[in-house]
Amino acid sequence: MAKVQSRRMVRTAACHCGKLTVSCNGEPAKISLCHCFDCQKRTGSLFSVAAFYPRAEVEIITGDANSFRRTSASGFDVTFHFCPDCGSNLWWEADRLPNLIAVAAGSFADSNFPMPEQAVWAEGQHHWLRLPEEMPSHARNPIRPRPSE
Ligand SMILES: [Zn+2]
Ligand SMILES: [Zn+2]
Repeated sequence: MAKVQSRRMVRTAACHCGKLTVSCNGEPAKISLCHCFDCQKRTGSLFSVAAFYPRAEVEIITGDANSFRRTSASGFDVTFHFCPDCGSNLWWEADRLPNLIAVAAGSFADSNFPMPEQAVWAEGQHHWLRLPEEMPSHARNPIRPRPSE
């Protein structure tokens, strides 16, 4: 008897105007919340949530993206991709994590999306904001900086 293959979860992330969409196959490899001021300025919100997917599991379905590249607090460059029409930053690529693509968790518009497994740059956490106690929180990003620094 043939085994029935269970269908993998496929989620679609969309920008604010809906022209730029990407599909994400399977579950994220990692989900991380960031309180840093760069993420606050980038999103206009008080923190960012990144759903990291293996590069091969993310594909553009519709639309074109513009990009913006900058150095991160960790010393590695990050390239942000955003909709040229509405400006939503849908995904980003960190040179530090070449096999992963970070997709903005809010762009799935799914309140049942899995919870982040960690929070980083808690130095920038707004004083009134309380996150679940079971979510590990790091004052900075617990990764090693670039060896040359
Ligand atoms: Zn858009
Ligand atoms: Zn950040």
